[in-house]
Amino acid sequence: MIVLGIETSCDETAAAVVTDAREIRADVVLSQLDDHTPYGGVVPEIAARAHLEHLDGLIRRAMAEAGIGFGDLDAVAATGGPGLIGGVIVGVMTAKAIAAARGLPFVAVNHLEGHALTARLTDDVAFPYLLLLVSGGHCQLLAVEGVGRYRRLGTTIDDAVGEAFDKTAKLLGLGYPGGPLVEKAAARATNPGRFELPRPMLGRPGCDFSFSGLKTAVRRHVEELGGVLTEADRDDLAAAFQATVAEVLADRCARAIRRFKEEHPQGGALVVAGGVAANKAIRARLATLAEKHGMPFVAPPLRLCTDNAAMIAWAGIERFRLGESDPLSFAPRPRWPLDPTAVPAIGRAG
Ligand code: ATP
Ligand code: MG
Ligand code: FE
Repeated sequence: MIVLGIETSCDETAAAVVTDAREIRADVVLSQLDDHTPYGGVVPEIAARAHLEHLDGLIRRAMAEAGIGFGDLDAVAATGGPGLIGGVIVGVMTAKAIAAARGLPFVAVNHLEGHALTARLTDDVAFPYLLLLVSGGHCQLLAVEGVGRYRRLGTTIDDAVGEAFDKTAKLLGLGYPGGPLVEKAAARATNPGRFELPRPMLGRPGCDFSFSGLKTAVRRHVEELGGVLTEADRDDLAAAFQATVAEVLADRCARAIRRFKEEHPQGGALVVAGGVAANKAIRARLATLAEKHGMPFVAPPLRLCTDNAAMIAWAGIERFRLGESDPLSFAPRPRWPLDPTAVPAIGRAG
């Protein structure tokens, strides 16, 4: 089985060709970074236009790299949501057009399910597993019990963790996108223990997260330094922020592990996914935690943590081989929770 995947939900335009033998035959990603950098964040209208301009060429490139024609495909999968609606429409319409023209099945993939199932593309991960999904728009702990079967154990009550990285980077004058820049600055820190930051939710019952207080604390430090940071200040603050996030994530995961093990005595792996999972300090902290609890730890390769289309093609394969596909009347969804039964948290739905 060979599937074309399309991803257009945020600021990466991506196309990939993946087989059910877990072979990534092509995986092309075009980041729109330069288009959005002057604005310090993603501008939805610019993103939608850029997807429209580049998607056809990227699909052609992916197909050429895979050495196949549309006639060789078994299905076409595209991100159907959640995300910036203009971009999602571009991807879904393109996938539907290919499916209609070639008489192929169309699979609308939940972007978060793409992140959630990536570990099964790259590693031998069986259901159930405990997933920490940490991305630009989400921070959730989920018991993954099967394809399409997600039970949310915790979520953020304010900012997503990637968002916290991006806002902190802005405060520190590091630029956009923040995650990788904060990580680099933290690695340069000469006195990483210099700043104390609060650890939101640490030790509290439940598995929810909160990151807005942390961001405010960083701002307070910046103000106390007179608003002008030396490189050393910036690097030390970045290190404090990153270490605190890693600690908070580990604390919340430890609670979720207890719950997961009660509900699934047969066990399962701890899996991390989403853009923030590319952070090496966070990966290392979670690996230690998993080891302590006798759980295998799985983190996808860095380039499959941030947005890509291989994960969309793979999630499409996972659904398609269970006999699932979507009608061409599928409507793109700006919101699409993985666990629809979970009560929205305070602040943003997630
Ligand atoms: P969502 O998946 O929730 O819809 P998204 O698709 O925009 O959001 P991703 O592409 O999965 O998010 O992740 C992007 C986020 O990951 C950004 O907030 C970015 O700062 C963060 N990120 C990327 N690399 C790193 C890193 N090395 N360390 C920390 N954060 C990172
Ligand atoms: Mg992005
Ligand atoms: Fe994402």
